[in-house]
Amino acid sequence: MSRFLSDRFSSLETYVPGEQPKDMEYVKLNTNESPFPPSPKVLERLNEQEIAKLNLYPQPEGAVLSEKLAQTYGVERENVFLANGSDEVLSFAFMAFCDSDTGAAFPDISYGFYPVFAQLYGIDYSEKPLCDDFTIDINDYFSQNRTIFIANPNAPTGLALTRDQIEKILQTNPDNIVVIDEAYVDFGGETAIPLIKRYPNLLVVQTYSKSRSMAGARLGYGIADAEIIEDLNKIKFSTNPYNINRLTMAAGEAALDDAEYYASNCREIIRVREYTAEKLRELGFELTDSKANFLFAKTSKMHGSELYKRLKEKGVLIRYLGKKRIEDYVRITIGTQEQMDILLCAIKEILGV
Ligand code: PMP
Repeated sequence: MSRFLSDRFSSLETYVPGEQPKDMEYVKLNTNESPFPPSPKVLERLNEQEIAKLNLYPQPEGAVLSEKLAQTYGVERENVFLANGSDEVLSFAFMAFCDSDTGAAFPDISYGFYPVFAQLYGIDYSEKPLCDDFTIDINDYFSQNRTIFIANPNAPTGLALTRDQIEKILQTNPDNIVVIDEAYVDFGGETAIPLIKRYPNLLVVQTYSKSRSMAGARLGYGIADAEIIEDLNKIKFSTNPYNINRLTMAAGEAALDDAEYYASNCREIIRVREYTAEKLRELGFELTDSKANFLFAKTSKMHGSELYKRLKEKGVLIRYLGKKRIEDYVRITIGTQEQMDILLCAIKEILGV
């Protein structure tokens, strides 16, 4: 840290992304990416013609992509906000909808970026403990004078709330924004998007990083009442109007023309998730009922940190978060059937079963 850094940031604890080691080829099951490449339609679209236009700025409003997303979700173009990954939508939401009067509230075990954004922007936040079985008690979120952030399905637990439960939270918070982070919704969750027409306090956040195989392109979006989108655009046009690069914008448009390709990948990931969960249970693991593209698991035979370490030595990367209350657990991204069989084989060797 230099002596020039503002005092505001001197004690900021940054978000720690999953490791991306380059020392060897790993079976990579640690950052919830899709094991499948983008659709061939995306690859076709990113041709020389598109690349040759990199001398030109992208369209700041992203009119074509917003319109296509609006059609996909049965909303209007003014209900769509585009960003550089859903992290940026979340960042802007913390900036736009929280301040010294309105703090933030989110579960104690959830996406690790929420407390980082809150600290970055100097926002007071309340972490609501998950129940012992890691479910969210919706009563904890009723009538809060805070902006609420809920990942649904939640990470790293994979557990999901129903749309009715989300609606109850919305009903009791008419004067606060409720942000529903649906990064993993396409793997078995229920989206809250249809509720935006009735709840002007709802912001749904989604991403191309998981079910649409574009983590490397950085594309996320928010769907909400037009006035909320206007607020987010105020922040965007005051920080970085060109937040989505030209190639990502084109890839995002093309991906929407191949919905069946992605739906079929999701079905396969769900199938492989259930298969892997069953095999892990047979090996004595305890797991949550994940509706995401990862499993959250523990075994009484070995501490989570040790399992992570031993698997890494065998070339299989999983995520160990090491946070209080979940020290025993590991998070395992669902890869291809072949990758999961390699994982299961390695686990059997490590546990000697
Ligand atoms: N929300 C949740 C719950 C996540 O796990 C992630 C991915 N780490 C994100 C948002 C951010 O994803 P991205 O910025 O790649 O869209």
